[in-house]
Amino acid sequence: MVNTAIRKHGAHSAEPTPDVLDASVLDKVGNTPLVKLEAIGRGLGSAIHVKLESENPGGSIKDRTALSMVRAAERSGELKPGATIVESTSGNTGIGLALIGHLTGHPVVVVTGDTISQEKLAALHNYGARVILTDWNAPSESPENARAVAARITAETPGAWRPMQFDNPANPAAHYENTGPEIWEQTGGLITHFVASIGTGGTISGNGRFLKEQVAASRPGGHLEVVGADPYGSAYSGGHPGEILVDGVGNSWPEPEWPKAFNRGIVDRFLRIPNDEVYTTVHRLLDEEGLALGPSSGLAVAAALRVARAAPHGSVVVAIAPDAGTNYLSKAFNPVWLAEHGIRLAADVPEARNPRE
Ligand code: PMP
Repeated sequence: MVNTAIRKHGAHSAEPTPDVLDASVLDKVGNTPLVKLEAIGRGLGSAIHVKLESENPGGSIKDRTALSMVRAAERSGELKPGATIVESTSGNTGIGLALIGHLTGHPVVVVTGDTISQEKLAALHNYGARVILTDWNAPSESPENARAVAARITAETPGAWRPMQFDNPANPAAHYENTGPEIWEQTGGLITHFVASIGTGGTISGNGRFLKEQVAASRPGGHLEVVGADPYGSAYSGGHPGEILVDGVGNSWPEPEWPKAFNRGIVDRFLRIPNDEVYTTVHRLLDEEGLALGPSSGLAVAAALRVARAAPHGSVVVAIAPDAGTNYLSKAFNPVWLAEHGIRLAADVPEARNPRE
């Protein structure tokens, strides 16, 4: 069996250590569980494991990025006590920043797209962020572009700091320093394939670099394959730019405009996954595994399934699940939204549920 060395989580020690008793909410960012897809992965000859980033306090992988960028800016003196944080984000980085700002005394302004889910909007408001909705598809030269709006607000707000997650090295560093080492530990060094979606590229770049270095150092001639899961409409995988129906990922602009946080050279190949397959996988994860995850998790797991089917017997595939399905009850789990966007679930998946029906 390939998985005998995979460490199980959830072992309880008899006594909590003083460190645990002193931990604050922000100390609970990271150290997320890795779970094996027992049902979906059955009979593939290889294992698929999913890193459940929804377990972070703010509900997504972007808590790690937000904390890493805030800490780096505090160290460099760019972020002064009580100063305002302004960021353009598809939502999750904003939620992470809003949580951190709320706990550390920084007002937070989030510039996001008008397609943001109601659930994420509510989370931002709950943490006290000021939210500005923009046309997410406005070109970079337009004054309505989210990054242009964030730049304007930063310039107009004395002392304000803008993390600029798309270009900030502390974004991939969060994964190089934390997420990657966790995955290496949790798989007992047996990982053979790493699959992640790409928004800013921080996740795939930081994890991919760390894990490739570990494999190179510990398995002579060994290779870890890094696979970028990309939705239709995104230019990362070379497709025609178009409407992207997976929140938080993909890129509508050609290569010169790709984020500095994204290290293209770390990705061995891209898999472009149709929206029907993405959302069918989201529903399979719930039905077969009991995991309520977001669309970018469905995207990564759909790609991981393709990878595992073709990989040598005994491969260990790890996919990142960036956030929870509860952020998307009004979208991924709403049959009206799915129908309006032309998304058809595979016939063997039960109809999308709507709590109002
Ligand atoms: N999934 C979701 C839901 C996200 O919000 C993001 C970040 N925008 C990603 C995936 C991609 O992560 P990264 O920015 O590290 O590439």
